[in-house]
Amino acid sequence: MSAIGTRSEAPDFLDDPDVRPACKDVDDPERFFPSSEAEAVSIATVYCRPCPLRPGCREWALRQGDYLWGVWGGTTQAERKRLRRGGVP
Ligand code: SF4
Repeated sequence: MSAIGTRSEAPDFLDDPDVRPACKDVDDPERFFPSSEAEAVSIATVYCRPCPLRPGCREWALRQGDYLWGVWGGTTQAERKRLRRGGVP
């Protein structure tokens, strides 16, 4: 599994013309790839929590493996690793 570190490699459902997720409207999409876990949690809370695509986005992110970087579906990379190992996020 290769690392995915840019929004340009986002899942197709983010291109749904009927839904406008918050991550599509940020001035700098790189904000979803913060350098600290605290910042990642903040981004996930502010942008992903109210997003209508969050459930599907989260499932997609969990299927990508441990190397998927950044905030997806309201989870950080560290949270997804814990979830995949059966822990709590
Ligand atoms: S859940 Fe987060 S990363 Fe996924 S589409 Fe919504 S805002 Fe974007």
